[in-house]
Amino acid sequence: MSEVFDVIVVGVGGMGSAACYQLAKRGQRVLGLEKFQIGHAMGSSHGLTRILRLAYFEGEAYVPLVQRARQLWIETGALTGQQLFYEVGALDMAPAGDDIIAQAQQACLAYDLPHEILGRAAIEHRFPALALPVGHGGLYQPQSGFVASELALSVHVALARQHGAIIRDQEPMLDWAPTAHGGVRVRTTQGTYEAGRLVLSPGAWIGSVVPGLAPSTTVIRQTLAWFAPREPELLAPDRFPVFTLKVEEGQLYGFPLWGHPGFKLGSPHYDKDVFDPDTPTREPSPGHEAVLTQSVRRYVPAAAGALLELKACLYTMTPDEHFVIDTLPDYEQVIVASPCSGHGYKFASVIGEILADLAVTGTSRFDLSMFALRRFAEFA
Ligand SMILES: Cc1cc2nc3c(=O)[nH]c(=O)nc-3n(C[C@H](O)[C@H](O)[C@H](O)COP(=O)(O)OP(=O)(O)OC[C@H]3O[C@@H](n4cnc5c(N)ncnc54)[C@H](O)[C@@H]3O)c2cc1C
Repeated sequence: MSEVFDVIVVGVGGMGSAACYQLAKRGQRVLGLEKFQIGHAMGSSHGLTRILRLAYFEGEAYVPLVQRARQLWIETGALTGQQLFYEVGALDMAPAGDDIIAQAQQACLAYDLPHEILGRAAIEHRFPALALPVGHGGLYQPQSGFVASELALSVHVALARQHGAIIRDQEPMLDWAPTAHGGVRVRTTQGTYEAGRLVLSPGAWIGSVVPGLAPSTTVIRQTLAWFAPREPELLAPDRFPVFTLKVEEGQLYGFPLWGHPGFKLGSPHYDKDVFDPDTPTREPSPGHEAVLTQSVRRYVPAAAGALLELKACLYTMTPDEHFVIDTLPDYEQVIVASPCSGHGYKFASVIGEILADLAVTGTSRFDLSMFALRRFAEFA
């Protein structure tokens, strides 16, 4: 006899952990299945922190989602006494006239978000840790900041368990099949389970878990670096914001000092080679260290001490860099929530809420059309 649940969540990472919590909170009998240990470093959510920006230059349609996500991070932090969101402000910087600043400002104007447009001198005066190329400027949004992503994942798992969810780690799903009465049967390395609904949130493994998405998704490797700060006082969270910075090396991003002795810097999309998530180790991309070292010296000289640590992490990209949050066309009982194209973690709290709503009521109060599967040829 299979154990029976209301909902099975496959992949207890950033999205899956939030979904398990939100489902269990609604009184659902939940089974969360995770192929590695909870909080492992083989996927996309490790590396301590993730930026949360409200001035969303990727599209103003994301703003209501990020606003709700921010509210949930704050509420969940307060509920557990563990701060999950740090409102340190966010600074997006680019050459004058670049679309990023215009689009960030458009998002602020559309949703009445406080913001300031700053020139290079004003930025360097207010944040003396930074040194910008001539002609650069930026947009500062004070209500943005960062989420403590590793902590948040473990908090979501702990809350889910408190609400009765069963979370099994080191138990990968092997396959699933629809049942005659409209549910699902899931087979793992340890057994077989049944449920009314299935949430698939496997991150970088989306192509093998939902084969129809394999042609439309690409997994790439990202490298994060932590550098010993030279002037740590200039990088403290009460003086230094999270930032993005478009320069010739790429679009850098960085954080104030938090949770680690080093200053954290990344430069997405440096290595665009396809990466197999089943590779047993996570070595940093060759060459990425040199790019990050050059970048910290040029643009954040206050942080340009010795390299302390490098970590590799995975992005799962769609061609339009928007997410997938949808039910499978032929199986309404199966909900897919992935991939997140390198900008998903900030939304994990609200995506968990959306997935719970979709599983329990079949609808969401958010417009999810931008995340529909039908935009890919395989699902059109
Ligand atoms: C270096 C880096 C920096 C980033 N910076 C930001 C940022 O600043 N702001 C932001 O918002 N986002 C950022 N992102 C993106 C964000 O972190 C990801 O979008 C998010 O973590 C994805 O969460 P996920 O739940 O889809 O994946 P994961 O957290 O990786 O979870 C997927 C889980 O599914 C499990 N799984 C897979 N297959 C199976 C199976 N068959 N059975 C059971 N379990 C399975 C995996 O083991 C994994 O634990 C960044 C990502 C990286 C890599």
